[in-house]
Amino acid sequence: MEPVVLERPEHCVSRKNISSAAIKVLYRLKDEGYIAYIAGGGVRDLLLDRYPKDFDVATDATPEQIRKMFRNCRLIGRRFRLAHILFRGEVIETATFRAPVPSDEGEHPENTFRTGEDGQVMRDNVFGTPQQDALRRDFTINALFYNIADFSIIDYAGGLEDLEKKIIRVIGDPDTRFTEDPVRMVRAARFAGTLGFEIEKEAYESICRNKDKLALAAPSRMYEEVQKLFFCGYAKNVFQWLEKTDLLHPMFHDFSHWIDEDKTRHDWVVQTLEQMDRWRKANLRVHPALLFALLFGEYHEVLAQQLIDAGASPHDAARDAVHRHLQGMCTNVRVPKQVIYQVSDIMTNQLRFQQTKGNRPKRVLQHKGFLDAFLYFKVSSKAHGRNQELLAYWVDLREAKK
Ligand code: ATP
Ligand code: MG
Repeated sequence: MEPVVLERPEHCVSRKNISSAAIKVLYRLKDEGYIAYIAGGGVRDLLLDRYPKDFDVATDATPEQIRKMFRNCRLIGRRFRLAHILFRGEVIETATFRAPVPSDEGEHPENTFRTGEDGQVMRDNVFGTPQQDALRRDFTINALFYNIADFSIIDYAGGLEDLEKKIIRVIGDPDTRFTEDPVRMVRAARFAGTLGFEIEKEAYESICRNKDKLALAAPSRMYEEVQKLFFCGYAKNVFQWLEKTDLLHPMFHDFSHWIDEDKTRHDWVVQTLEQMDRWRKANLRVHPALLFALLFGEYHEVLAQQLIDAGASPHDAARDAVHRHLQGMCTNVRVPKQVIYQVSDIMTNQLRFQQTKGNRPKRVLQHKGFLDAFLYFKVSSKAHGRNQELLAYWVDLREAKK
């Protein structure tokens, strides 16, 4: 199949908008006689006039050939080897064009190789053509190439048309592709939310049919994905897609059922996500622990109250509510232990804000988890219209300390 090719005058992608590290890698490969493309999300974002998060390079040079060309290069991955070319503050992931493998399970290192009973690697590198490489990608808009040799855009999958139409379309049969790698369903919701695109009808219906397959995805990979969903700066839009596709249920089982029972619970989550997006736009880094504390905050508070009613102390109740919920959730989304402890600290520290007598408040300010606990206190107090005087007290105290 001949690809659609947009020559340089026909598109807006300029080398100025590509990182100098990526440009160096591309030219080096080209000068050595290899094909050198920017692939995937980088091209999509450049065409949409957004600054890409990272630039991935695709080439016909093999990993060994790439390694010999760059001193600052590390090969990673066992089944499919990728080159990481390291620059100060930036890593350019450079991959050899890849052929589709039956039941390919996605990009995560955990899933890029399989070992047999005796531990041998069962699949080796399967190199492919540029076209094969494009067609094994998830969505048409993620399958575009930028060719450094003539600055053209190469489209094997109809991605240019879908960018125009603002559509997330699966390459190939959606049921097959979502079964191969269920995380692709979550990625569809993320791209729709971040880009303001629609999910194409067949893909959307396929997600509705296949959403429970998400339970088959590796929980550690889901944790990575959940962070991308909520830290992308469009968390509120992404959440709306998760609700619309009903992916929320297989991801956060108990929590999503609890939200469904009452509209005000839903509003709290939306307010939290708006706050996440504001922080992101202001370029503030938020801990995963604060995200989880806020997202599940009201749910954890209700669980804690049930434990208090059953006789637990407020401190133990706050701690146990978090542990029970997040540890239970780990079968779908593996939240690291350390993060669970930090969420639990944020919640138990809320009790300290109730105490304003004597020297205690000053000690609270010096506590190492103060800032995250305070941010939770502030956001939740505002959202619920409660603790207004207490909040003013702590804001003043904090200002006075600065
Ligand atoms: P982001 O802005 O989040 O980085 P991205 O499109 O660059 O978006 P990555 O996860 O960085 O996404 O992956 C890079 C490229 O690899 C994608 O654009 C896509 O072409 C391909 N890809 C990633 N994950 C999958 C997957 N699960 N199945 C098929 N192709 C994938
Ligand atoms: Mg990327």
